[in-house]
Amino acid sequence: MGKLAIEDIRKDFPILDTEVFGKKLVYFDNAATTQKPVQVLKVLEDYYERYNSNVHRGVHSLSQQATAGYEKARHTVAAFINAASSDEVIFTKGTTDGLNLIASSFGRKFLQKGDSILISAMEHHSNIVPWQMICEERGAILKVIPMDQDGVLKMELLPELLDESVKLLSFTYVSNSLGTINPVKELIRQAHAKNIPVLIDVAQAIQHMPVDVQELDVDFMVFSGHKIYGPTGIGVLYGKEKWLNELPPYQGGGDMIKTVTFEKTIYNVLPYKFEAGTPDISGAIGLGAAIDYVNSIGLEAIAEAEHELLTYALERLAEVPGIQFIGKAAERASVISFLIEGVHPYDLGELLDKQGIAIRTGHHCTEPVMDFFGIPGTCRASFAFYNTTAEVDLLVAGIKRAAAILI
Ligand code: PMP
Repeated sequence: MGKLAIEDIRKDFPILDTEVFGKKLVYFDNAATTQKPVQVLKVLEDYYERYNSNVHRGVHSLSQQATAGYEKARHTVAAFINAASSDEVIFTKGTTDGLNLIASSFGRKFLQKGDSILISAMEHHSNIVPWQMICEERGAILKVIPMDQDGVLKMELLPELLDESVKLLSFTYVSNSLGTINPVKELIRQAHAKNIPVLIDVAQAIQHMPVDVQELDVDFMVFSGHKIYGPTGIGVLYGKEKWLNELPPYQGGGDMIKTVTFEKTIYNVLPYKFEAGTPDISGAIGLGAAIDYVNSIGLEAIAEAEHELLTYALERLAEVPGIQFIGKAAERASVISFLIEGVHPYDLGELLDKQGIAIRTGHHCTEPVMDFFGIPGTCRASFAFYNTTAEVDLLVAGIKRAAAILI
């Protein structure tokens, strides 16, 4: 498949040899979380075996080594997303944490009664609920860009929706339940033409395609390390320096301060102002290793391989009697949501699991998307570059076998 040495790549991911119910694992739940290559696992082990220590605190050697590793990872992330400065890279717990940080901090500083935040109809709950919480607190309104039956945003409505009440546009680059790739540049262009800042959630984009924050000219961006072959518990918030300097800290505590007295605290400079408390040091170092790994393969090659896999899977799945695809955008990432007539998604998920095939079933933390299509949930197969067409064949055969039992 493609130009990737797929068999060599698969050797980097020991978990792909795992057996489930006596069958070799076929892992198609990559949109939920990706598997980790040995290059990441070794770095984590090495950290805890050789230089585990707290960062930014001690003069002792181990602390300096841990600090150097942690800050090197920040530089790796900055280069990967082409940030103008590594001060613009804040380590968080993940996408959800980054979204809560911006909603809380931006909301407290800039949202007034009658203002609004504009999101899209296909947001993950983590790009809905934090905005509802802060809007309620500030008397602001949450507005939504609608989508059509293919799962494509109704861009013709955007000029009217971007009215003077909108203080921030926040949307996902790629939908985790539909696979739609949104027209990010055009959304940013229209918002900026009205001086409205933009936040993008790249939780489902950063592992699939190059994302350049300067080229996009985006104001804020969030993602999770675990979706790009890194550990859980670590994520990234990118923000333009001018915005991050203007925003108040999200949490108070150690590391985010310059001086503290009982009367007054002076906050630390970027990026530490937004990193209160002991951070996920090993997680950041692991994320740096994951990005090095992705770079060693190349995002262009990854995108090409995944696109081939997506095209093949869409063709093969179309053979399954009674299949209905949810989300039919022309521009899409390697996520396929579907239903089989007469089969409940959970039942299919369970029967596939018995055959060693892991897919996701349910609402995928996008209940409004499910409500829009009038369904309780979908089956979702999502691919990574380590997946193969042979695995897609197993999925298709597995679905047919399960449907024969269930219908
Ligand atoms: N946004 C999108 C588009 C996602 O796919 C996810 C994870 N499913 C999230 C946000 C939340 O990510 P996390 O749970 O890692 O914070």
